[in-house]
Amino acid sequence: MDTSILPPTQKGRQYEIRAIGLREFAGLRRDDERLDPFELARYAKLLVASFEQIEPFLTEETKAHLLGAGSDKWSGGACSQTLFDGRKLIILNPTHNENRQNATLMEEVCHVFLGHQPSRLAIETVNKQGKPIARDYREADEEAAYSVGAAVLVPYSALRRFVEQGKTSREIAKHFKVSRELVEYRMKVSRLWEDYKVRVVSG
Ligand SMILES: [Zn+2]
Repeated sequence: MDTSILPPTQKGRQYEIRAIGLREFAGLRRDDERLDPFELARYAKLLVASFEQIEPFLTEETKAHLLGAGSDKWSGGACSQTLFDGRKLIILNPTHNENRQNATLMEEVCHVFLGHQPSRLAIETVNKQGKPIARDYREADEEAAYSVGAAVLVPYSALRRFVEQGKTSREIAKHFKVSRELVEYRMKVSRLWEDYKVRVVSG
């Protein structure tokens, strides 16, 4: 493999190689093509249900909590039991915007592709920095799924090129339909942050 398309850290390289594999699996040819996690979810045998579809199975109290006071405390959920046709049911928080839903779904897809085993009804939760808090999977699995998912959405080689071209994190986020925070997180873990800051500040 051409190592110039891999980030400098050992861990980052391992995640990037898996992410590149997933992008190839999804049929993407260029590193700057936007990946649609919903498309990949179909390959991963995930059924992404709308909140309206599961609403009848929730109590009024649960519904009110998930959409109200608790709405910022969960990003998505996966049912640990597979459906009769082998698919796994996923719901995404309908109060979150498209960028956040994309990242959440991407993480769920990665759990499946990386062969992680949840033990029970898995409610994904994220902390203030947008990083998942281990609840449903082992902590190492959470880190791997989030990291690989982020690399699938924002590949290192394209990100490095965009930084070199002087693009802002906002522009890159718009290009890949993810949050600016996710782009900046990718810059930091891929050691592109210093270069980015210099270019943006002096730019
Ligand atoms: Zn997770």
